[in-house]
Amino acid sequence: MAKKRKSKLEFDKGWQYDPAPQSAEPANLRDRYDLFIDGKFVKPAGGKYFGTSNPANDKKLAKVAEGDKRDVAKAVRAARKAYEGTWSRLRPAERGKYLFRIARIIQERSRELAVTESLDGGKPIRESRDVDLPLVAAHFFYHAGWADKLSYAFPGRKARSLGVAGQIIPWNFPLLMAAWKIAPALATGNTVVLKPAETTPLTALKLAEIMQDADLPPGVVNVVTGAGATGEAIVHHPDVDKIAFTGSTEVGKLIRKALAGTSKRLTLELGGKAANVIFEDAALDQAVEGIINGIFFNQGHVCCAGSRLLVQESVADILIRKLKDRMETLVVGDPLDKNTDIGAINSKDQLRKIKGYLKIGQREGAEIFQTSCSLPKRGNWCPPTLFLNASQSHRISQEEIFGPVLTAIRFKGEAEALSLANDVRYGLAGYVWTSDVGRAHRLGRSLDAGMIWVNSENNRHLPAPFGGMKSSGIGRDGGDYSFEFYMETKNICIAMDEHKVPQLGV
Ligand code: NAP
Ligand code: MG
Repeated sequence: MAKKRKSKLEFDKGWQYDPAPQSAEPANLRDRYDLFIDGKFVKPAGGKYFGTSNPANDKKLAKVAEGDKRDVAKAVRAARKAYEGTWSRLRPAERGKYLFRIARIIQERSRELAVTESLDGGKPIRESRDVDLPLVAAHFFYHAGWADKLSYAFPGRKARSLGVAGQIIPWNFPLLMAAWKIAPALATGNTVVLKPAETTPLTALKLAEIMQDADLPPGVVNVVTGAGATGEAIVHHPDVDKIAFTGSTEVGKLIRKALAGTSKRLTLELGGKAANVIFEDAALDQAVEGIINGIFFNQGHVCCAGSRLLVQESVADILIRKLKDRMETLVVGDPLDKNTDIGAINSKDQLRKIKGYLKIGQREGAEIFQTSCSLPKRGNWCPPTLFLNASQSHRISQEEIFGPVLTAIRFKGEAEALSLANDVRYGLAGYVWTSDVGRAHRLGRSLDAGMIWVNSENNRHLPAPFGGMKSSGIGRDGGDYSFEFYMETKNICIAMDEHKVPQLGV
């Protein structure tokens, strides 16, 4: 009889990491935050505030102003005035100087921002400190450099800014999403009204303080906190020229409908259900690391998370065994502990939604595997979860769960893998693991996804285009692609002498 193989956890039993908590003190939070409009923190018109809390222990962190239509109108007025009076008239190199200054202050305050991000959103400090914050500063540096070189982004075309941009962002990368939206909008000469997510408003408000510290002219960036209705008020405001939205496909559709028939420009970055396709010729250990990073990083709160595992029959057993072993080593717990791999689920609502899918998956007949890690008593937690023997028609194979939950399906050959990978309504990202370069190119071309990684996972150079197809969005962000979001290109034909007007044809 074959000897029962010891799991990685059994080997590892007997030792544990000592706690290595980062102090919460650097967050330096105030009790109450007002709206940031026209360069000042101001009280909301309705006088209402809502609480934001730490999802790892349910403790209240601060009260935050709830902006309504009147506040949005005030913010849009300030943004319009700033656009017409200062920002669009400033020499591009001067705009760049402000962005460089903002980037440097972000670096100076990065510990404070990283700790705040982990407290408010639940993500491990290792991620907010080593991934989010460096990228936030990098976005401002990168776009600062572009501000006076925009003509190179539009060779042969003349481009000008749009005006006031309404920007609505989600809770999974709160500060990074804010930077991602604000930096290119400002570099291209637009002004901004930003609404962060209700559960993670604090770092956007700290970014507003940074705008003040950088002496950014009043009204160039306004931050109006609140819930969905605040976002809706921005979408419907008649004096907003452009809506940039990142969030769920459902809300994205509502916004698209609301803007139909208006002249407002729209970009949507929406949900995903990316496949990790593992072929028998792949480096399996490398693939396991990629899968782990892809779905368990940031609690699976990642739009391009590889939330589906498609694995070739011939290596499925060994890959799944390696994957389970690696999952067992993941540390779930205090986001401020530097050893934590998986932090807290962002909100009670999101935890309810994830738990709903855990039930649905089992009801549909898939086999559930969860690691044996212990979970803290208070707060919102979900252990890393793998669904085995799922079928393509199961809801857990088709719908975005947005949590640390991976659904596995086996395939026989390349054609089947491609058909399974593409048979979802989303098309944001795709991952292929193979040592066959021809197959890498074939799948790269034929997978329905805006971003495809082969033998790597979600590593991205800032200038690379980011965005999805199908229900995952409209438009591409990143590098000079973002400038298409925030600028209008024009054809200017000046004929000073009618005989010299260039003509096409004979
Ligand atoms: P969400 O519910 O769509 O919310 C996104 C933002 O929209 C929040 O600020 C939200 O405010 C606001 N909002 C809600 N209803 C609105 C309405 N009717 N009109 C205008 N704004 C409204 O999404 P989420 O749950 O926060 O975020 C998760 C989703 O974002 C996932 O589907 C994920 O895939 C997607 N995402 C996509 C990308 C990408 O680049 N493709 C990146 C990150 C996340 P409240 O917070 O107050 O509800
Ligand atoms: Mg919070």
